[in-house]
Amino acid sequence: MVTLILLGSGTGVPSLRRASPGVAIFTRDLYLLIDSGPGLLRKMLEAGLTYEDPDLILYTHLHPDHTADLIPILFACKYGDLPRKKSLSVMGGPGFRDFFKGLESLYEPWIRPQTYKLSINEFPQGEITFRNIKIISKSMAHLPGSLGYRIEFENGKSVVISGDTDYCENIVKLAMNTDLLILECSFPDGKKVEGHLTPSWAGRIAKESNCKKLLLTHFYPPCDDEDILSQCRKTYHGPLLIGEDLMKIEL
Ligand SMILES: [Zn+2]
Ligand SMILES: [Zn+2]
Repeated sequence: MVTLILLGSGTGVPSLRRASPGVAIFTRDLYLLIDSGPGLLRKMLEAGLTYEDPDLILYTHLHPDHTADLIPILFACKYGDLPRKKSLSVMGGPGFRDFFKGLESLYEPWIRPQTYKLSINEFPQGEITFRNIKIISKSMAHLPGSLGYRIEFENGKSVVISGDTDYCENIVKLAMNTDLLILECSFPDGKKVEGHLTPSWAGRIAKESNCKKLLLTHFYPPCDDEDILSQCRKTYHGPLLIGEDLMKIEL
């Protein structure tokens, strides 16, 4: 069984309804976090998770709404009474190592691990196996170095997450026949911004990739004043979820 919790369905713009991006995925013996926007560490607590839990953190790109809580996570891991013990692997796209070096130059020694092993890596071209899951990445149309991920589990199920992206061939290929496609949906139809999707563009990707279920997330505030579901239905008629914080999905 694979359990996924959408921790934050929002963006970098503060919203009382929607926290910044973050997705938690669990299998029997693995806990994976994808992105950690500002406030995610606290949002994790609401889902019953803490800084000790993730085995692997994957970053889709370096924008602060997706990475801001990395430092708070590493700082919490050093908390004297309950220091982290198990090793932690953190990966991002091209440029992630330099990004982390910059953070280290600011925050050392407060984030240097003493009680656990920390590995910081850039995701290699193509795919990796982490424990019993396979992770495939492709570059997305957002920032140089932006990656989308396809995670394939032991039980044969898969999840694809775009991070931020515009429509591109890579996301359609990455998402082909996946069980759950998590797409950003930054702005409503008619208010499209380059490098981001709207509901009908996300629906087009869902249709072309033949995904089994689409979950929309990463809503800027204007989305909450519009009928996102109907806009997505212009291009996609399959199973569809409009993300809300702490939404739980089992695969
Ligand atoms: Zn974003
Ligand atoms: Zn972004």
